[in-house]
Amino acid sequence: LPYFKKIERFAGTDPTGIYRGRSGPIPVHRHTVENPLFDALFEAAAQAGHEIVDDVNGYRQEGFAPFDSNIENGERYDAARTYIDPIRDRPNLDVVTGALVTRVVFDGTRAIGVELASRRDGRRVVNGAEVILCGGAFNSPQLLQLSGVGNAGELRTLGIDVVHDLPGVGENMQDHLEAFVMYACTQPVSMAGILRKRTYPGTGLKWLTRRTGPAATNHFEAGGFVRSHPDAPMPNQMLTMLPLGVRNDGTPAPTPHSYQINLGPQQPESKGHVKLRTNDPSKAPALTFNYLSTERDRRDWVEGVRITRELLNQPAFAKYNGGELSPGPAAATDKEILDWVARDAETTYHPCGTCKMGTDDDAVVDPETMRVRGVEGLRVVDASVMPTIPNANLYAPVMMIAERAADLILGNEPLAPEHADFYRHVPVS
Ligand SMILES: Cc1cc2nc3c(=O)[nH]c(=O)nc-3n(C[C@H](O)[C@H](O)[C@H](O)COP(=O)(O)OP(=O)(O)OC[C@H]3O[C@@H](n4cnc5c(N)ncnc54)[C@H](O)[C@@H]3O)c2cc1C
Repeated sequence: LPYFKKIERFAGTDPTGIYRGRSGPIPVHRHTVENPLFDALFEAAAQAGHEIVDDVNGYRQEGFAPFDSNIENGERYDAARTYIDPIRDRPNLDVVTGALVTRVVFDGTRAIGVELASRRDGRRVVNGAEVILCGGAFNSPQLLQLSGVGNAGELRTLGIDVVHDLPGVGENMQDHLEAFVMYACTQPVSMAGILRKRTYPGTGLKWLTRRTGPAATNHFEAGGFVRSHPDAPMPNQMLTMLPLGVRNDGTPAPTPHSYQINLGPQQPESKGHVKLRTNDPSKAPALTFNYLSTERDRRDWVEGVRITRELLNQPAFAKYNGGELSPGPAAATDKEILDWVARDAETTYHPCGTCKMGTDDDAVVDPETMRVRGVEGLRVVDASVMPTIPNANLYAPVMMIAERAADLILGNEPLAPEHADFYRHVPVS
């Protein structure tokens, strides 16, 4: 909690003063949820028996609420902007872009630098007292494997000299799968117009001149977290409302107006892996997700789709409800729903866990130091160190981990834990 609070400058209300940070580098604003479809969402949520909560990032995650974003004055604040831009002039900082790190250079089992390749400078080695990998859930395990840290047998097969046999590297990959439950909208209230090319110049102009309009929001302005079965200890489904029907690749719904819930179970058991296919660093590794490979994951999907339909068919949506476009009435039985999920679902872009921290035999990173186990001078700090996928989006947890890791690396006393109460579901029976 103290590190989540350290990263954020929250502009909303937190009457308790317990859950939100006020002076961090990343601005966090509550969406204004002005589209009438969001009003219908909250009304429908109440009609379906869900709670309307103040802050899904505060005391109670379970329920429906406007969501937060890192958008301030129409501009998104990412890590480069909030953390690197203010210190670009430091003499001990050299930012190299357009370069691919191709391997960690070892002296025995001590990391002493990285080799990188760029079109401008070709290949070169940068030496350092130590190396911190933060290439993300695909690249950090890929680089470790390319550098000889991973499953020794598999590395030898690819002709890579083994520095340390660490079979957990690249394993334990988790992700949130997401599918779009899409409805036709009978009234011209959705944001579907912004997908038409003739509206692009107006949208662009509004943003360029005033930082307002449809380009000043991510449109994922509200949603909820629900439990889809009574024995779930915490909400296991995330439902994000989008006041237009569109796939991640930009394909719009086939009707003039539409809306959708982006649905995703949050605690998947399915685990996959990242494995090299070759010892060429410029070639992508093989990514195997094994989505839907456990009974519970399949059950969560069926329940999630049913709960979402129940929500979108509440009286509050009656004046907009033009019928379900996706998955559509043909997906009625559990099997039909699962077939649709298997065909239609996409990644939510939340891969993690491939260099998990821990103390068991499969652990890659030591949680006390973020050091790669079994070698010296090498740490990993990114989404790959998460042992278990978080119960929502990953960006804030990655930043929280990075802030704490910074203290561990610098030898600072870590911030003391804060013991804050949070809502726990008490089963009725
Ligand atoms: C399209 C998309 C939308 C998302 N939306 C959200 C959202 O709305 N909310 C949310 O919470 N999360 C969202 N996420 C997830 C979130 O962005 C990631 O979980 C998070 O950024 C992971 O952080 P990371 O530091 O582990 O890796 P990354 O942010 O991926 O950072 C890794 C960096 O390392 C660089 N890199 C990798 N390999 C090399 C190499 N060999 N040499 C040099 N550089 C290298 C990459 O270019 C990248 O800059 C989204 C992700 C995607 C892809």
